[in-house]
Amino acid sequence: MSSSSKPLVYIISAPSGSGKSTLTNELLKLVSNLDFSISYTTRALRGSEQNGKHYHFISVEQFNRMIEAGEFLEYANVHGNCYGTARQFLRDAGRNGHDLLLDIDVQGAAQIKRTLTDAISIFVLPPDRKTLEWRLRNRSEDPEDVIERRLLTASREIAEYDKYDYVLINDRLEESCEKLRAIVLSERLRRSGRRLSEQETKIVELAECCRLANARDRVQPILLSFSTPATSASS
Ligand code: 5GP
Repeated sequence: MSSSSKPLVYIISAPSGSGKSTLTNELLKLVSNLDFSISYTTRALRGSEQNGKHYHFISVEQFNRMIEAGEFLEYANVHGNCYGTARQFLRDAGRNGHDLLLDIDVQGAAQIKRTLTDAISIFVLPPDRKTLEWRLRNRSEDPEDVIERRLLTASREIAEYDKYDYVLINDRLEESCEKLRAIVLSERLRRSGRRLSEQETKIVELAECCRLANARDRVQPILLSFSTPATSASS
């Protein structure tokens, strides 16, 4: 739980197939007092998904009504479907003294950053394009044309990595979970403003490895594998 009543908002974005859902599920087990914002979407339910657990599955008409009623903190069209984060989750987290985790795309992340400027953003990257393609095909949930579209979107989304505060390269799951946990805890520790123990200092150091400025060199080969022009190494 953060020491202030205002919830810390963590945004996690990644191209689909980067292992983000597994990571967020593990994170929620590892960190207490962190609520997950269950998004609203107009896309069809997939595989083993459950309504109200993975998403709130609603019609386009219902989605539009929620927009008109101002119920969304942000919303966007992703892969041809609408997705939105309800303001209610932020209110509930604040009331319970919890922090909030949003799993949203790059458009949504940009909207949140404009309204909640101290939100903490984390971009999850696959180790390379080949791995992403393999993961997308292996989960065999989508037809070929959808996989192709997801790969194309991935190249575009990956180019936005440098708008995020932290970059996490999801190579080995256990290590990635540790790093993600460290990012969340280190931001809480920073907010607390108190003197850190030796163990807490180690947590902060692990999180710092993932800070954008410290991760750029590791990101460049991944960008190249997606044939994305490398961005300048400023900041
Ligand atoms: P999927 O359909 O594969 O579950 O998700 C597709 C994309 O939509 C993912 O990148 C996911 O992060 C994003 N997404 C899920 N919920 C929201 C939301 O509420 N808002 C925005 N902007 N994107 C979302």
